[in-house]
Amino acid sequence: MLALTIAATVHISVLGAFHPVQFELRPASGATLVVQGLPTESGAESEGRAGAVPKTVVMKDGATLLLTWARINGPVTVTGRFGAPARFYLVIPEANGSGKVERQYFGKLELRRLGPQQLQAIVAMDLETAVASIVEAEGTKGLPFEARRAQAVATRSYLLAAAGKRHSGYDFCDQDHCQYMKDVAAENTAAARATASTRSQVLVYQGSIVAALYSANCGGHTRDLHEAGWQDGATPAGKYPYYGVSCPLGGTVSGHRVGMCQLGAIQIARQGKTANTILAHYFPGTQIGVTGARGTLLASVRPNAAPNTGRGLGSITASASIGRGGTSLVASSALGSGITLGGINAGKDVRAAR
Ligand SMILES: [Zn+2]
Ligand SMILES: [Zn+2]
Repeated sequence: MLALTIAATVHISVLGAFHPVQFELRPASGATLVVQGLPTESGAESEGRAGAVPKTVVMKDGATLLLTWARINGPVTVTGRFGAPARFYLVIPEANGSGKVERQYFGKLELRRLGPQQLQAIVAMDLETAVASIVEAEGTKGLPFEARRAQAVATRSYLLAAAGKRHSGYDFCDQDHCQYMKDVAAENTAAARATASTRSQVLVYQGSIVAALYSANCGGHTRDLHEAGWQDGATPAGKYPYYGVSCPLGGTVSGHRVGMCQLGAIQIARQGKTANTILAHYFPGTQIGVTGARGTLLASVRPNAAPNTGRGLGSITASASIGRGGTSLVASSALGSGITLGGINAGKDVRAAR
């Protein structure tokens, strides 16, 4: 089988808002962690001296490891066996003023010193894992499913378009500066299903993925970049010009009001409209695109603003090419029910991993 979906990876700096001096690391239920780069017992004193070999520790379910600023010299990496991503808990035993903070992640962790008395935790996670985690953090109970799906497409677009442009050394933080994120989304949650059902879909404008912004409540009208005072180029907006559009919901303004209004999206979804209608409303002039390996854009099609048929865009067909060999593919997609990529050269259909 062709490995068509080599997943894109995003690096997210987590829990930095708590300025952690130490982390407690714990495998999630059933997980095994491989921790590399820990100093040997005398490592802290023998840094730079020949023979100070970094230690590897294997942690099974139930084990706990305290990683303190003073003990860490070089970067410490945490993975599953054979370098695979793993499910783990990161705990700050005593966050300043917040008590204990505990988060579960799925990915590969790197811990390093960040200035005096602060550790930085960067989780390298699969793009779809990051999307689901953000959709989960942005959602509340009872949110219409199509609003979550719109959020998933916007989030995926933003992550792909803005990666590497917000921070150096990693792609995004987990705060409002980039996008809010907490725990990994559990399987079968609405966030996970909304993400899976829009897998690989992004917003496209003039052939580029849109850094699709969103905010809580526009108060009745979203702002274009001029109104937002974001014309200095140092904005997260990217190439898409953004247009101020009317929103079906008024109320108190919350957020920057550029891009998708989350409360408005909920309102549109409650009228029986699809995620694509929501996206077409807040991002006029864009298309829905399909990404392939490492988040590269394969093809794009115009969003369909038709009323909810329960099937999103319906059937689309687009030609695209992928890979160094220039393998020709036809991406025929019933968006909303997964994407089928049929390899012409392979002579058989290959369903993209779900
Ligand atoms: Zn940030
Ligand atoms: Zn609004």
